[in-house]
Amino acid sequence: MQNLYDLSSSELESALAGLVSPPFRIRQIEEWLHVRGVASFDEMSNLPKELRASLAGNFTLAFPENIEVTTPAPDGSRKYLFKLADGNRIEAVYMPMGERTSVCLSSQAGCAVGCTFCVTGFFGAGRNLTPAEMLGQLFTIRREHSIPSEMLNVVFMGMGEPLLNFDHLVTTLDIMSKTIAPKRITVSTSGIIPGIDALAKLEHRPNLAVSINAPDRKRREEIMPITSKYPLDELIASLKRYPVEKGREITAEYVLLAGYNDSHDDAVALARLLRGVKAKVNAIPFNPDPNLPAWMKRPQDAAIDRFVNTLVKNGVRVTVRRSKGNEIAAACGQLRGKTEPPPRRRRA
Ligand code: SF4
Repeated sequence: MQNLYDLSSSELESALAGLVSPPFRIRQIEEWLHVRGVASFDEMSNLPKELRASLAGNFTLAFPENIEVTTPAPDGSRKYLFKLADGNRIEAVYMPMGERTSVCLSSQAGCAVGCTFCVTGFFGAGRNLTPAEMLGQLFTIRREHSIPSEMLNVVFMGMGEPLLNFDHLVTTLDIMSKTIAPKRITVSTSGIIPGIDALAKLEHRPNLAVSINAPDRKRREEIMPITSKYPLDELIASLKRYPVEKGREITAEYVLLAGYNDSHDDAVALARLLRGVKAKVNAIPFNPDPNLPAWMKRPQDAAIDRFVNTLVKNGVRVTVRRSKGNEIAAACGQLRGKTEPPPRRRRA
């Protein structure tokens, strides 16, 4: 049966047209789905009982099953493990940040991009998530924590490369944008240039974050093999032509690896690389993990400060992500969709 959470607004309207009348009932159903995120037709209390039964006989509202929630880390963040209908597992992260809350979502059940600093990449490829599977992560966490829309940021920065799941991502964004302003939604990519160009054409564009991670092609290709397909200079050119709304900027994500890409000269080169891109840098000190290469280390605080200060002196706006969720393996690059690590598959 068709899951109604897999349909965009216009698809939903067409799917319901033959079954639901008068037309205002369709608006009511849309509100139950896209605003309230209900998990069953029985919750649609302003619909006649017969209509609810008819909907249940023709459609489903299945979300992924939330099978585990970690106890909160000292910073309050919690990791949510979900089981999909086919047995795959994915993770999402709830991150309270003062008055605001961020929710980090997965877009694929694994990732084929294979960035060497990323645990998801270590465990390899997985299938695209459906809109219902992406929305289900968000609605489950929102409902549990009663997060008002205006206090919520959504980031597609969990498992997977969202721009390799573009069509489902667009449907998901369409539904999310009913309650969350596009400026509060961020899509993070490893640099899939056709996806960036396609995102640029959307009417309601989310924020764009791009993993840069090295100031030159050679080193970027070492830690992000996708660079051989989408070269760094072409990626930067795509960012220069990306339309950025007033008051917004692209985020250039930069994982800092001790002794590899964190020197004064690297910061100068990064500032030069980003010249002409309306971007700020988000520096992310590396999160060590036993599955990742042993040479990869988090830089000392002094090295992080030097890198950041050099960028600032070169006219670049910088934030440093003091990783949320590090203690529960929910920080950047640490999501794996499993509670127990399987045998090692890639040489460390
Ligand atoms: S960093 Fe993102 S794109 Fe790279 S392997 Fe991990 S999940 Fe995939």
